[in-house]
Amino acid sequence: RFKSFYEEDPVMHISLHPQTYKIVHCNKMTVKQLKYESKEELVGKSIYDLYSEDSQVEALKSSKEFAEKGVLVNLEQKILNKNGATVPVILNAIAETDEDDNIITIRYTFVEIAALKIAEDQLKQQKADLERANRDLEQFVSICSHDLQEPLSTIKFGIDILGKIYTPILDEKGQNYVSYIKQASTRLSEQIRALLEHSRIGRNGEKKIINVGELVEVVKYDLGKRIKDTKAKIHIGDLPQIEGYEIELRLLFQNLISNAIKYTPEDRNPEVRISAYREEEYWVFSVVDNGVGISKEDQDKIFTIFNRVKKHDNYEGTGVGLAHVEKIVHLHDGTIWVDSQEGVGSSFYFKIKA
Ligand code: ADP
Repeated sequence: RFKSFYEEDPVMHISLHPQTYKIVHCNKMTVKQLKYESKEELVGKSIYDLYSEDSQVEALKSSKEFAEKGVLVNLEQKILNKNGATVPVILNAIAETDEDDNIITIRYTFVEIAALKIAEDQLKQQKADLERANRDLEQFVSICSHDLQEPLSTIKFGIDILGKIYTPILDEKGQNYVSYIKQASTRLSEQIRALLEHSRIGRNGEKKIINVGELVEVVKYDLGKRIKDTKAKIHIGDLPQIEGYEIELRLLFQNLISNAIKYTPEDRNPEVRISAYREEEYWVFSVVDNGVGISKEDQDKIFTIFNRVKKHDNYEGTGVGLAHVEKIVHLHDGTIWVDSQEGVGSSFYFKIKA
């Protein structure tokens, strides 16, 4: 029964003479994977014959390590098949002893990892491609934003002059056009700035342990004037410590809380609740308001940059806040979603690793 374990095992077992390191036995899989005709072809060969010239040093190192430790664990190596082709393997080795603890043979076990290596190489390649694409994209956004601001400044300057100097000779229609161009160029300038900000999220800084409770208190302090003006009540529950990017997390809460205050009917005082609960290895945070709410159809679109809900046109905004928020949640490998009822309020949830 034990012989069949050795023989039929889907990995290569090779038993070596403890002094000469010559092969004394091997199993069927060794013959098959190294493309020999029979075991006899292998028996009598030195284990070093299975290594290419480049790998001889590595092979000698492993036998030296074996002599010192009596065992080899998970060494990644390259051996040769009969045709001289390289076979990537993981090597484990152990001494086979008799009842008096004398070493009779050393068993080398090779696990072939060619498929694994190919997958690993593909993954490495894909990662490099992705990183390059990401870098290109960020560079593109950054260059665009800088370059676009320039001609835009000229337009803004021109239209300012036109507005100031030529107003007396422009009729009402003309004055309206000047005003449209002014508004549009200001909006465009804000949008370009927002794009640049968006591309910069997560680029600098390092993750650290953050006390979210303290962080939200800082945000609440920063929003002090707006909170006072709107008579908003902000309830902060027990919030955990997490590992994250401080500046970005502050921006996240600032956007969610200021939206919660902003999108409230005029005749209602905003009430915002910020809390968190544990769900397995995640923390789920929520920012809940009693505001105007968002219809089902609009809920999917609000996280897209520059997307605003038509019905909320009377509230000022550029449509970038939630795009920032979503990017920050993704930066923390998390997910974000919203639950809302029109006229009653909205709850924004995000879930990140504890
Ligand atoms: P902005 O507030 O500048 O328009 P955001 O990206 O922060 O941009 O939000 C996108 C849209 O989502 C808003 O225009 C608004 O219609 C909707 N929205 C965001 N937060 C809330 C909220 N708490 N309650 C109701 N609607 C909201």
